[in-house]
Amino acid sequence: MPPPGHAGTPPRAAKGAPPSGPPAPDAARHARANIFESESPVFIASGLPLNASYTFDRFIEGDCNQFARSAALAIAQQPRHTAFNPLLIYGGVGLGKTHLVQAIGNHVRQHSDYKVLYTSSDHFTSDYMQSLRTNRNNEFVAFYSDIDLLIIDDVQFFSNQPKTQEGLFHTFNLLHQSGKQIVFSTDRAPQEIPGVAERLLSRFQGGLVADLQQPELETRIAILNRKANDQGIDIPYEFIEFIARRIKKNVRELESALIRLLAHATLHRREIDMPLIREALGERPDEEQAKPTVENIRRAVCAYFGIAEDLVLGRGRNREIVQARHVGMYFSKKLTGHSLATIGRYFGGKDHSTVIHACRCVENLIETDPNFRETLKRIHREIETGYR
Ligand code: ADP
Ligand code: MG
Repeated sequence: MPPPGHAGTPPRAAKGAPPSGPPAPDAARHARANIFESESPVFIASGLPLNASYTFDRFIEGDCNQFARSAALAIAQQPRHTAFNPLLIYGGVGLGKTHLVQAIGNHVRQHSDYKVLYTSSDHFTSDYMQSLRTNRNNEFVAFYSDIDLLIIDDVQFFSNQPKTQEGLFHTFNLLHQSGKQIVFSTDRAPQEIPGVAERLLSRFQGGLVADLQQPELETRIAILNRKANDQGIDIPYEFIEFIARRIKKNVRELESALIRLLAHATLHRREIDMPLIREALGERPDEEQAKPTVENIRRAVCAYFGIAEDLVLGRGRNREIVQARHVGMYFSKKLTGHSLATIGRYFGGKDHSTVIHACRCVENLIETDPNFRETLKRIHREIETGYR
């Protein structure tokens, strides 16, 4: 007697007509559960779960990804009704391919009862090879032909796998001919994947190819801000910018630096400051001990107060100039280790008693004026982040 679900038996219930509006949540759940169930004890085709946090809302837009994101969103909003079929997204490691293709899957699942299958090239390969081994290729075909949106992540791993490429080629044709949507991701341009059959390569390139570039500084800052916000943590802008300037190539690394920072801060109950950030970025202790120069301090203070540096070096007694001069001298004493006389020389040849007076004025204000204390904190952060 043949086992249940033997070759030729459709593995699951036939699906209904494509949806017109959003389905009842229960119906959607039921439809989804069905496609992952197999009645066969041997051949179990399946997809991979979607990460619920990979949404469009959480995918920060920038010049680096705008085109790919717009194409992905168009597909998510009108699956099976765009000209972008297949959509192939390519980009280096950690630049958001998985996030973006899963955002399509999450969106479609939430807004329709289209059957969505997210899988990786490895997973697809093992499904396919298993179906061949167990002589259940018909079930494999029935399983895949039932899907409205097929997402295959990391197709570069089909490289030099002629057998699986054949399976993918036929699956692709089957879905494409019936107007189903297909989305691929790869870590390089399709023509750079070695050992891909010409006919499959032309399928990869037959729709829309969109790439993800390395994020520019502004986008890196926005990503960090968003991730910190999501964690409910407020990190001063200067620190966010400092981290964003250090890590340029990879959003995943940016994210792990932030996670390390938060872990250090909570586990050691430490306030987030520059030494902690440098620790979290894995910088060496000798870098940690680097000190700003008086010039660094002067520049940061003058930039903060919006005053030209030569005014601070001069003799002017205007209130703002005096304040900037005092603050500059105060931080020079606090952070550089220079003598009072040397600091005075750096500020246009003032003598050491002028520096003492400046430091006293600042210390008095710190005692009495909470706003001033806040201002000093901000300037301190700018000095620390500015010179590295
Ligand atoms: P890839 O698949 O290209 O290697 P991922 O999609 O796994 O990269 O992204 C790595 C991490 O970076 C994920 O946590 C993802 O959420 C995050 N990420 C990447 N790009 C963005 C972006 N534009 N906005 C927000 N987070 C992003
Ligand atoms: Mg990925």
